[in-house]
Amino acid sequence: MFAKLRGRRAYDAVDAVLISHLHADHFLDLVPYSYALTYGPRRERAAGDPVRPVLHAPAGARETFRRVVGAWGTEDLVENAFDLQEYEPGDVLQIGPLTIRFRVVPHYVRTHAVDIVSSLGGGRFTFGADCAPNDELCAFAQGTDLLFVEATLPEPEPFEPRGHMTAGEAGEHGRRAAARRLVLTHFSQRHPTVEPFLEEARAIHADAVAARDLARIALPIRSSG
Ligand SMILES: [Zn+2]
Ligand SMILES: [Zn+2]
Repeated sequence: MFAKLRGRRAYDAVDAVLISHLHADHFLDLVPYSYALTYGPRRERAAGDPVRPVLHAPAGARETFRRVVGAWGTEDLVENAFDLQEYEPGDVLQIGPLTIRFRVVPHYVRTHAVDIVSSLGGGRFTFGADCAPNDELCAFAQGTDLLFVEATLPEPEPFEPRGHMTAGEAGEHGRRAAARRLVLTHFSQRHPTVEPFLEEARAIHADAVAARDLARIALPIRSSG
């Protein structure tokens, strides 16, 4: 993902990175990103004033990153490349005009749904992270404009505790949260097309779209009054 993002935006022009939970598919690209910030040519240009984006990650992240990178190299790579700040679920973050809140959702490790509003207006965005079906996300996201919900599974897991959702369950969360637009995400690469997932969700929430890497998704326009 870091390689793809580089084609869209200069990595040293990013103000902040936010991590919802400490599963490898959600943070491993911080490793190439850290190498780029530490050793890339842009670092020389910024000599004396190195670019150090803020990295907001769940409590315990510093230790996890040290263990992962320490397997082959200098364990403080990530915390040196970024300004690492660990958050707790009750924290409220301010990143420029953005106010960010969290809600713990059920998954295999401590996982945070993330709600973002801007003081510049323009709507509200809620990211469900990875989670099993739950009430917390529906309450947390109530009335949001754009709700991202994972649609990992073709069928519900046959075991407890569950940790992911089907597209139908994602649609159900979009409906219960009264989200204006639902975005399905976290598809498995083994599915050749996301169309069946989209159809399943749209049967429950009409305004559902599928996320793709680097896609730009518009917030639905609010009619005034
Ligand atoms: Zn996960
Ligand atoms: Zn995941």
